[in-house]
Amino acid sequence: MRALVTGGAGFIGSHVVEALLAQGHDVVALDDLSSGKRENVDRRARLEVVDVRDADAVTHVFAAFRPDIVSHQAAQVSVSISTREPVRDAEINIIGSLNVLEAAAKHGVGRVVFASTGGAIYGEVPDGTRATLDTVPLPLSPYACSKFAVEAYLRRYRHERGLESTILRYANVYGPRQDPHGEAGVVAIFTERLLAGQPVQVNARRTLGDGGCVRDYVYVDDVVRTNVRAMTGAIAAPIVNVASGVATTTRELLEAIESASGAKVEIRESERRVGDVERSLLEPSVDAMGSITPLGDGIAKTVAWFRARGR
Ligand code: NAD
Repeated sequence: MRALVTGGAGFIGSHVVEALLAQGHDVVALDDLSSGKRENVDRRARLEVVDVRDADAVTHVFAAFRPDIVSHQAAQVSVSISTREPVRDAEINIIGSLNVLEAAAKHGVGRVVFASTGGAIYGEVPDGTRATLDTVPLPLSPYACSKFAVEAYLRRYRHERGLESTILRYANVYGPRQDPHGEAGVVAIFTERLLAGQPVQVNARRTLGDGGCVRDYVYVDDVVRTNVRAMTGAIAAPIVNVASGVATTTRELLEAIESASGAKVEIRESERRVGDVERSLLEPSVDAMGSITPLGDGIAKTVAWFRARGR
């Protein structure tokens, strides 16, 4: 099939491109390279350097390539930037997504898979529970609002334009190629600092010196497999939680990175960061995902990749 991956030069998108190529699909990556990198895109795929806010340019790519399936990963991905610049967030994440959906509906795309966020959409998840697909989303940040808005638009496009879609609500994704210099991506940030012998900062969940916030870390291969399964029609559910279902504190994450690298890291305690969700944990849609990589295995692969890259 002809597959188009927006954000295909980014962390998750570039892995989706590779997985689709491995299955023999013809692949175009659409990315404005604002944070993605040309060298992330496998040479067998074509890269179209296009901003999703540019409706004409997006339509032109769809008209020329006529994709059968689309994975929409391109986004303004930072919660804190969305808080500072909500209009810019909405322009990229809502208007940009609408440009992609309009082009998809107009040019006969069979299915769009959308990278949504379980971490941000569900908000605070009470102790002893996991967010399920029945949990009522409570988007607080502009980033979460924009992702949730696109989920609603996707329903509208399905009912009124016949455009099939699958919504993937990702937990905290980690793995090779994640940007260690962004504002998110704690695994990449910690791994790079640990391998460089630099201290890391642990923000308290509630009080200084506690284990830090609780997150659900999901390995990128699991996210990519779910994307490809959804794109190729192997997932019937309209919404999928792409997660590990395992609650991990920041300190436990650091221990996993230390054990995989054989190095010790100096921890600097920090107060609770205003606005941080204390606990985020999802009930994974295991049937849709196929399998879930244990944290230790995913961290070992990630550390090995960062180590090899550093040489
Ligand atoms: P990333 O920053 O590596 O990838 C995003 C890509 O989108 C980049 O290559 C960037 O250049 C491109 N992009 C940004 N603005 C664009 C624009 N206006 N036009 C065209 N391309 C543009 O981030 P990622 O972690 O790979 O995230 C991929 C998707 O997954 C995003 O939609 C993100 O919101 C979602 N997501 C990620 C996580 C996570 O933990 N990484 C969690 C939940 C959801």
